[in-house]
Amino acid sequence: MSRKTFIRFTDKGIYCVPGKFYLDPWKPVDMAVISHGHGDHARWGMKKYLCHHFSKPILKHRIGPDIEIQSLGYGEEININGVTVSFHPAGHIVGSAQIKMVYKGYVIVFSGDYKTDDDGLSTPFELVRCNEFITESTFGLPIYNWLPPADYADLMQTWVDQNRQNGKTSVFIGYSLGKAQRIMKSVEGSGKIYVHQSIARLNEAMESVDIKLPDYETIDFVEGAKAVKGEIVILPPALLDSNVIKKIPDRATSICSGWMQVRGSRRWRSADAGFSISDHADWTGLLKTVKATEAEKVYVTHGQTAVFSKYLRELGIDAVELQTIFGDEEMEEKEIITKEES
Ligand SMILES: [Zn+2]
Ligand SMILES: [Zn+2]
Repeated sequence: MSRKTFIRFTDKGIYCVPGKFYLDPWKPVDMAVISHGHGDHARWGMKKYLCHHFSKPILKHRIGPDIEIQSLGYGEEININGVTVSFHPAGHIVGSAQIKMVYKGYVIVFSGDYKTDDDGLSTPFELVRCNEFITESTFGLPIYNWLPPADYADLMQTWVDQNRQNGKTSVFIGYSLGKAQRIMKSVEGSGKIYVHQSIARLNEAMESVDIKLPDYETIDFVEGAKAVKGEIVILPPALLDSNVIKKIPDRATSICSGWMQVRGSRRWRSADAGFSISDHADWTGLLKTVKATEAEKVYVTHGQTAVFSKYLRELGIDAVELQTIFGDEEMEEKEIITKEES
């Protein structure tokens, strides 16, 4: 099997030649197979979408209620023009999937974004052996190594308790799809949870497919934010330096992002704490996964593509960088962090 007869890298995205479909395309196409609901992977303008059941309401919420969309469960197979396609848990966010394609016995897996740690909310990552593996590398540098999720949960809960003792409200800043729900899960039981309405809408999308989230309320900024005193508030990154956040009196603010890891113990202008929780695999997670797939060929799509593919080649793995325009939903978090440095 030659690669070009199976998969082709085009200016619209990654194209499955016999299947006649694209993987997370960035330009309008007839048939798009989507790994998960983040904006750099699920875009507007496709004639047909195929995704996991859990991603369906997220895509409808973010792209439009009238899109033509079909969904599958994990492990369920569908034949598209002779290519067997199935979704396998990517552990990144709720509904995130690696896309497995089998054609004439040859297996290619597209990882989308993935995380190997179990966050207690997303279906845990499942390893899929393949001939070729298309991987992300957002945090593909040895400096990125996460603590186990339970350790972060402990740190976050301790911080909430301390804040309450000091008469302060704990405000967590994190991206609205994925990170926010992860924060909810991490602080579950530590106090009442209030979320911004942009987060509440995504929560509702997840609850519509029976994802069980911790109890929460939408914060009411109109009525005043007094009710939240001493409790927990979760807001998207865009609100960090806004007037909205100022309506919460006596607040302690923390940023939740993998990008915090390189910040050490420094203080931030408008944040009091940082938790380096990410929805992407760290250096060890990426390496372990690539090796365990036993792929003969590895394509590195986004993030630290140059460093990571070079390192893989040094290990004797045939790895190449691939130009894609997949970004990083945690970019919004990164932006507020870098902005504070200047
Ligand atoms: Zn993502
Ligand atoms: Zn991404």
